[in-house]
Amino acid sequence: MYKKLFIPGPTHVEDEILEAMAMPMIGHRDSLYSDLHGETVSKLKKFLKTDGHIYLSTSSSTGMMEGAIRNVVHKKVLMTDCGAFSKRWGKIATSNGKEIDVIKVDMGQATTPDMVDEYLSKGGFEAVCITHNETSTGVMNPIKEIGALVKEKYPDVLVCVDAVSSMAGTEIKVDEWNLDVVLAGTQKAFALPPGLCVVTVSERAFEKSLSVENRGFYFNFEELEKKAVKHQTPATPAISLVNALNVQMDRIFKEGPEKRFQRHLDMAEHVRSWARKNFALYGDEKYLSPTVTNVHNTREIDVVGLNAELAKRGAMISNGYGTLKGTCFRIAHMGDLQLADVQWLTDQIDDILGL
Ligand SMILES: *Cc1c(COP(=O)(O)O)cnc(C)c1O
Repeated sequence: MYKKLFIPGPTHVEDEILEAMAMPMIGHRDSLYSDLHGETVSKLKKFLKTDGHIYLSTSSSTGMMEGAIRNVVHKKVLMTDCGAFSKRWGKIATSNGKEIDVIKVDMGQATTPDMVDEYLSKGGFEAVCITHNETSTGVMNPIKEIGALVKEKYPDVLVCVDAVSSMAGTEIKVDEWNLDVVLAGTQKAFALPPGLCVVTVSERAFEKSLSVENRGFYFNFEELEKKAVKHQTPATPAISLVNALNVQMDRIFKEGPEKRFQRHLDMAEHVRSWARKNFALYGDEKYLSPTVTNVHNTREIDVVGLNAELAKRGAMISNGYGTLKGTCFRIAHMGDLQLADVQWLTDQIDDILGL
């Protein structure tokens, strides 16, 4: 049976998007594709408030995280570690032969501008990689403030952001916030099927990439740019997903970005108060995520059992990620879910657990 997804990716996809995926196929060197690509990118530029480059990568987000590292880092990069996804950046960098230093914060805490300042002041870093919304802990890091700090005190350092579970669910002003590379897969707050990744690249990050050796081919910004000027991609793109993204951008503007972000906050606020009443919140209250809530399983309920019961009612939530499995569970409230959906979900959980 189909289950409504309250997991942090893939997320629930609306029928209108599924219908857009079922378009008749077009050639990727046809002007029909270039028109579609160009339109989609200009809507994304408006939405993400950037005049920089935007590439559409047919890959999961992790692919473009690797691409970001290979394009903009010669030698050394500063990493943050506040959960499983920020750890992933570090693994990607070291497995590509880059040197890293890591800001390690306790799980459930945020990475703050002060911490970034302390590490960058040691010198030698070309970039800092940050996970905007740490999906494993339910904490959103203050990238606006971190971007401002880097701009003021370390103007040569590039800021790379994994915005996979935040982009399209909360505001991101790419240029104003001094963010050089920002990437997100479509299966999270964009509420599309998986397989496509949106990445913004500032002019200076692009220029820097031209001097970096061995940046590979598939994710190479220079190769992507050569085709992007013609509103195309070097290899065959996931055309159906680009079409779905174009339709989704129209839906986002129709709802209104501000309203969309507020809807995410309203859903988050509902889940948070439910969690505070019945369990506890895991993350630092000051930095709670607007797209996913990590509930501390203080009642020690059987999360797998709960999900099996929810499945019978047509819903699915997530267990805690990695080391938090069992001690936490996660309810995602992102994309095209509505407040009524999360209210329905918590009612079901209340009913199942007898709360
Ligand atoms: C889901 C997620 C990823 C991984 O995305 P893929 O598209 O599966 O590669 C990376 N970072 C964050 C913060 C995520 O939530």
